[in-house]
Amino acid sequence: MNIALIAHDKKKQEIINFSIAYKHILKEHQLFATGTTGKMITEETGLSIQRFQSGPLGGDQQIGAMIAGNEMDMVIFIRDPLTAQPHEPDVSALMRICDVHKIPLATNLAAAEIFIHGMEHGAFDWRKTVKKQKGNA
Ligand code: PGA
Repeated sequence: MNIALIAHDKKKQEIINFSIAYKHILKEHQLFATGTTGKMITEETGLSIQRFQSGPLGGDQQIGAMIAGNEMDMVIFIRDPLTAQPHEPDVSALMRICDVHKIPLATNLAAAEIFIHGMEHGAFDWRKTVKKQKGNA
């Protein structure tokens, strides 16, 4: 599975702790992230992650482009709902494009945990079928 990892600044520690806890699962997948999130996770876990631009510089949009191209299977985006973000339009656009293409999107840790456990039990295997049908696999 291709998995995107993103966290707003005040949530970076949460996604790092999540990545440490589930490193044994995440390492089996292709990981992508916005710039700063990816850098911090790699530093703390050693996980190999393809990094895009930092979110405010277009990283959210780059991940959105992968979703539009049916190349992303899951997005874990730990949002900070209590802090205004300069790139709020990009954040909204990313969530919208997930909905357009029915890409599973977890916006908080509780949902992310359900996703990761579900993935272990095959809950997202339908993505392989969709990719095959659309010629991405
Ligand atoms: P960052 O971007 O990982 O580069 O901090 C995340 C975001 O704020 O969208």
